[in-house]
Amino acid sequence: MNASKDKVVTIAYKLTVDGEPVDQGELAYIHGHQQIIPGLERELEGRSAGDSFETTLAPADAYGERDEEGVQVVPRSAFPEDAKVESGEQFYAQDSQGNPMPLTVTKVAGDDVTVDFNHPLAGKTLNFSVEVKEVRDATPEELAHGHVHGPGGHQH
Ligand code: ZN
Repeated sequence: MNASKDKVVTIAYKLTVDGEPVDQGELAYIHGHQQIIPGLERELEGRSAGDSFETTLAPADAYGERDEEGVQVVPRSAFPEDAKVESGEQFYAQDSQGNPMPLTVTKVAGDDVTVDFNHPLAGKTLNFSVEVKEVRDATPEELAHGHVHGPGGHQH
């Protein structure tokens, strides 16, 4: 079976950026639903269990370019009082629709906290080493929920 729209694909991956290992693991996603970065989904199209490959993805095919307008200075009082507000800590803000927006604290100077809404991998070229572990049909329930059930996915 080949990876195509509405198939559940399980992969093991290793991510390297600038020669440094950044992340590795296993994940299961529903193909064709923009659940993973676009370049990786494109590379996986048509693959089957047992395939392995390496790919280099430009920022546009991964987490996008950095947007300097995503860097803002906010007061310390914008954070919960008991939060550890230090460079490198990650928090979630909410946009006007209540969607979570992850941010990273990049600098703390007195009451001024510099935060960056860019994804930490924005602007980076990503090197992936991928092994396809399994390709199967998504169940109607998985398609209705919009996520994978079982190993690598949601446990209800
Ligand atoms: Zn579900």
